[in-house]
Amino acid sequence: MIGFDLTPEQKVLQEKARKFAKEVISPVAAKHDQEGTFPLEVMEKAHREGFFTPLVPKQHGGQGLGVLDNCIMSEELAAGCMGMYVSIFVSTLALYPIIRFGTEEQKERFLKPFCSKFSIASYCLSELTVGSDPASMKTTAVLDGNHYVLNGTKMWITNGGYADFYLVFATTDPQKKHKGIISLIVSSSLEGVSHGEPIDKMGQRASNTTAVTFKNVRVPTDNLLGGEGEGFKKAMAALDITRPMIAIGAVGIARTAMELASQYAMKRVQFGVPIARHQAIQFMLADMAKDIEAARLLVYKAAWLADQGIRNSKEASIAKAFAADMAMRVTTDAVQIYGGMGYTKWHPVEKLMRDAKVIQIYEGSAQVMRMVIARQLLLETEKRMASSS
Ligand SMILES: Cc1cc2nc3c(=O)[nH]c(=O)nc-3n(C[C@H](O)[C@H](O)[C@H](O)COP(=O)(O)OP(=O)(O)OC[C@H]3O[C@@H](n4cnc5c(N)ncnc54)[C@H](O)[C@@H]3O)c2cc1C
Repeated sequence: MIGFDLTPEQKVLQEKARKFAKEVISPVAAKHDQEGTFPLEVMEKAHREGFFTPLVPKQHGGQGLGVLDNCIMSEELAAGCMGMYVSIFVSTLALYPIIRFGTEEQKERFLKPFCSKFSIASYCLSELTVGSDPASMKTTAVLDGNHYVLNGTKMWITNGGYADFYLVFATTDPQKKHKGIISLIVSSSLEGVSHGEPIDKMGQRASNTTAVTFKNVRVPTDNLLGGEGEGFKKAMAALDITRPMIAIGAVGIARTAMELASQYAMKRVQFGVPIARHQAIQFMLADMAKDIEAARLLVYKAAWLADQGIRNSKEASIAKAFAADMAMRVTTDAVQIYGGMGYTKWHPVEKLMRDAKVIQIYEGSAQVMRMVIARQLLLETEKRMASSS
């Protein structure tokens, strides 16, 4: 009924991503973290390898992979640097709604060129005053003939300064809350589109994060994804697919932290023996190993459900919440095992701890994930109670 062997194709994919992380990402990770600069050359290479377009069907020029395949590959990239991985990943966040809900004409117009030459796409949902509650968004889209006129500022946009196009969520009527939201594909070259300076972040500093402003931007109605009032559903559907992809990033970070911490523990001598011989250190390492394993399995299940076309909102949220908290614990303990050395920039574990923190915040915060899980759980309980009464 269940097997955990990777297929030969998945092993090839995993090895390809591992090699890329080792040879291309890791050597420049510390530099981009320290400088807070965007590794454009790494991104170009990653695009050439197909890491930007895993879910795009082959007929549109992409890799035609499933969500689980993609997660197996993504753990390796994130193990190299989560900041760079998130910049690679975010194009999938923007492209997935086009793959899933776009017309054939839109797929031809946006996916093909994206796959054939180096391109970046961003996902614009959040605003300065609107994060966990996107249905309250302020960005407006007003129909004017065969255009929507877009006005507003999106905040925290990953790759905001480099995107060729943005998937933008806006409201046609703020009174209608989520029912008024539409999604538009907006070229960054349109008049009235601008972005802010890179935001100086605590972690994932190799990813570019900016505000993006739309001022009277005329977007053709041909760029509307799905119908009016459908935007919110599309945003949420994309998150069910992409949350496992972020959760596996947390697994990648934690795995690197565990590997570094166990190597350090075998070398560092205190009280006449390597600290790895002290049981308190062994227990920290054991907790890392068990939690990483559990998180990976939760991600695989959520991804597998997505590949079967089975609704996975609860499982995706469980995987995301567990993996994010797990990565925070594991990286904090890795710093602990390094002692004073862990608290310096001489060793990479402090970067991993900073990189892990934001996974509890973006793509649905730790609290929002628990709201989704609880809502689903109570609905299931209600159904069970109704059927047994
Ligand atoms: C580095 C980075 C990259 C990002 N990239 C993108 C991107 O590419 N595109 C995009 O659209 N957005 C992006 N975001 C935005 C991200 O999705 C939001 O930061 C996130 O949704 C949280 O929103 P907020 O920051 O406004 O926090 P708020 O919503 O203000 O929440 C603040 C705190 O209150 C808690 N909270 C909120 N509501 C409740 C509640 N009902 N019950 C209990 N607790 C609650 C939250 O969990 C959080 O702890 C990014 C953010 C960061 C930091």
